[in-house]
Formats: sequence, C-alpha cells, structure tokens
Amino acid sequence: MTAIRKKITDLQGTFELHNGIKMPYLGLGVYLSEDGQEVINAVKWAIEAGYRHIDTASIYENEKGVGKGIKQSGINREALFVVSKVWNADQGFESTLKAFNDSLKRLDLEYLDLYLIHWPVNGKYKETWRALEQLYGEKKVRAIGVSNFLKHHLEDLLQTVKIVPMVNQMEFHPYLVQQELVDYCNTHQIQYEAWSPLMQGHIFELDSIKQMGQKYGKSPAQVVLRWNLQKGVVTIPKSVKKERIIANAELFDFELSKADMAYLNGLDKSKRFGPDPDTFDF
Ligand code: NDP
Repeated sequence: MTAIRKKITDLQGTFELHNGIKMPYLGLGVYLSEDGQEVINAVKWAIEAGYRHIDTASIYENEKGVGKGIKQSGINREALFVVSKVWNADQGFESTLKAFNDSLKRLDLEYLDLYLIHWPVNGKYKETWRALEQLYGEKKVRAIGVSNFLKHHLEDLLQTVKIVPMVNQMEFHPYLVQQELVDYCNTHQIQYEAWSPLMQGHIFELDSIKQMGQKYGKSPAQVVLRWNLQKGVVTIPKSVKKERIIANAELFDFELSKADMAYLNGLDKSKRFGPDPDTFDF
C-alpha cells in the first residue's frame, strides 16, 4: 500500500494535481439537489460556510441553479473550483466539445476548473478523452479527469493519452475502499476522489462509526469525511440542508488515530450503493 501524507489544514485547503492546479479537497456534491431554489441555496450556503469546490454534472440537470448560486454568492470566480462531467450519451469527440460548451452556458461561466468523463462508455471514452485534451489545450478547463474508471479502464486509456487524467472520481466509502485502485491512481499521480462518501446516508446506520465519533465528539459523517481527507482522497458530500452543509465541513479540529484509520479501512466489503463500472447500462 502506498502511504501518502498530504497536509490537511482547513476548509479551503487543497491537494495539488499533477499539472500544478490546486483542487480544494472538500467540495459540495449536488446530485439529486433540485434545480432552482434548492440547489441555489445549497451552493450559496456552502460558499458562505467557506466551501470553494462545487461538483455538478450535466445529467444532474441543475447546472443552471449551480451557476445562479455562484453568482448570487458574490464570490470571485477565480476563488472557486467548479466541476462538471460529460454524460454518456454525449460521448465522442465532437459531441463532447458541444456538451462542454452547453454546460458552460448553463452554468453561465467562461471556464471550468475540472471536466470529467462521467462513466467509461466502451468504444467511446478514448475519443471523449481526445476532446477533453483539446479543451484543456484551449484553456477552457484547468484540469481534466475521469470518473468510474477501474484499473483496466485506466490502463487502456493510458496507452493512448497525451495527458494523463488528473483525477478519478469513484464511489468510495467504508464499504467500498478499492485500495488497489487507490494505490494505482496514487502511483500515476491521478488524484482519487470519493463520490457517495456518506454511502448516500447509510453511514448513519453503522454503530461502530457512531461510537468512534463519540470518542472525538464528532458525528459519523465527520468521522468518515475526515478519514477521506487523511487518506489523501478528495471528497464531495451532498446535502441541501444548511446545518448539514456547515457540519460536514467541520473536520479540521480533530485527527483520526492510526488505529481508527486502520479500522475504517478494514470495514471494506466491496459493497456498492451505485452502479458497477463494468456492468452499467446507461
Ligand atoms: P452522499 O454519500 O454525499 O450522501 C448524501 C445523502 O446523505 C443525502 O441524502 C443527504 O441528505 C444525506 N446527508 C448529508 N449530510 C448529512 C448529515 N450530516 N447528516 C445526515 N444526513 C446527511 O451521496 P451522493 O451520492 O450525493 O454523493 C456525493 C456527490 O458525489 C454527489 O452529490 C455528486 O456530486 C457526486 N456523485 C458522482 C457520481 C459519479 O458517477 N461520478 C455518482 C454519485 C454521486 P440531505 O441532502 O437531505 O441533507
């Protein structure tokens, strides 16, 4: 196992991508946050609380609201790290270029900080990657990456890339660690990023994590999110509730012990709450 030590400081702290871009290691997820007032509020509350990273996707159908939330927050664009993803039906070279521009328009932004291939669509993802490389070359996006790429997808993609992906966003939580993939990404300087870090809410059913939290005076969500950061994994918990958005970022006044880190690593059951990248059919 590759041991990586990355410095964790505060809510605006970053991990550095292999092209030197600094990615805030804690962001707000907005999957299933409704377009309109719900997502606008979530984005505004998050920015107000100090978050500097927002993770959306065209398929979430809330990019317009995310863009409005950003505008209404009054924050400088350069202070934010905004991520979107090309959906499966849009994969291919020309269609990805168009999908990117459509996302920018909906977000009402001039550039993205990170653009990801949402899923590894067979027979398409290499052409899609070529489009991302072009967008990166044109400076329309500061970093490019993938999502839901298992080791064999990455090995295949790396055979033909000009630019190695900077990020791989994967389902990641105590029941799905995929340490071999984490190590592979670390070895190739591909920043690992967790989606569904709270197991879509199921984390709160685990008594042992509750008990661990009590020891630190922290909630199960805070324990699990802190574990992500201490493992060097970027994390993007989703909430539309102001108090949860704030609490999910209160991670910088405690540190999990080595034993507790090892315990959380050991809960792995290879259990997914989302689709399997080898068998998804959408
Ligand atoms: P999460 O693991 O972040 O869990 C979100 C759920 O937990 C929501 O129901 C939320 O409810 C609840 N919750 C959040 N904080 C708390 C808290 N402190 N106490 C109690 N409940 C809480 O799930 P997601 O699937 O949303 O994953 C996070 C993000 O990852 C997504 O929003 C999206 O941006 C990204 N993602 C990417 C995917 C990909 O394929 N690349 C796939 C899936 C997600 P409430 O909102 O009511 O607070």
